Amino acid sequence: MLLGLTPSRRLLSVRRSLIQCRSVSSENTARKAAVDRVLSAFRSICGEDCVSLGEAIREQHGKDESVHKCRPPDVVVFPRCVEEVSSLAKVCHDHNLPIIPFGTGTGLEGGVGAVKGGVCFSLRNMEQILDLHQEDFDVTVEPGVTRKTLNAYLRDTGLWFPVGQSRSLPVYTLFLKGLPTI
Ligand SMILES: Cc1cc2nc3c(=O)[nH]c(=O)nc-3n(C[C@H](O)[C@H](O)[C@H](O)COP(=O)(O)OP(=O)(O)OC[C@H]3O[C@@H](n4cnc5c(N)ncnc54)[C@H](O)[C@@H]3O)c2cc1C
Repeated sequence: MLLGLTPSRRLLSVRRSLIQCRSVSSENTARKAAVDRVLSAFRSICGEDCVSLGEAIREQHGKDESVHKCRPPDVVVFPRCVEEVSSLAKVCHDHNLPIIPFGTGTGLEGGVGAVKGGVCFSLRNMEQILDLHQEDFDVTVEPGVTRKTLNAYLRDTGLWFPVGQSRSLPVYTLFLKGLPTI
């Protein structure tokens, strides 16, 4: 792309790219320092076992089923209830850290990629079915409840949640996207 430019414009363009690289790298350094500062707060909120810096875990949470390349977060947390999500989110907000929710990584749009790093909230431990109103065909679930779990729960009621037959997709994210269309 640079070949079509005059030498002075080429130099300007290279200089701009270098400046951009430098600012991205200083953003990354600042964010990594912020992550180091918040780890003990995260651990005191949801316990040592529910905070992971492991490379394999981070990579697993940086990719879904789309073609987009893996963009791992800096850290993955596994909250177990709304209160923990709320407390963790407050810490992230106070330290200006991006938050990326993660259901099961079956999305087809690359939405779980941590394009600016940050903290992945894996919601797999939040799998309670909170309320069922059979007569209204209405159920309230936590975000980790999958289609299979819900259907096992509904088995004796005569009801059935038919969406996404081929996989164990989370009920919550299917409806976040609007009414199921596939
Ligand atoms: C085989 C297959 C069949 C499918 N069938 C259907 C279908 O019948 N109908 C249909 O509509 N779709 C279907 N889909 C797409 C489906 O909607 C997504 O796979 C599903 O919604 C993604 O859920 P997830 O929890 O794995 O999300 P992830 O891939 O983990 O995340 C997807 C996006 O949602 C965000 N997110 C995740 N959890 C939350 C949360 N609790 N709060 C806020 N944001 C959150 C993430 O940050 C990300 O941006 C299908 C996909 C597959 C692979």
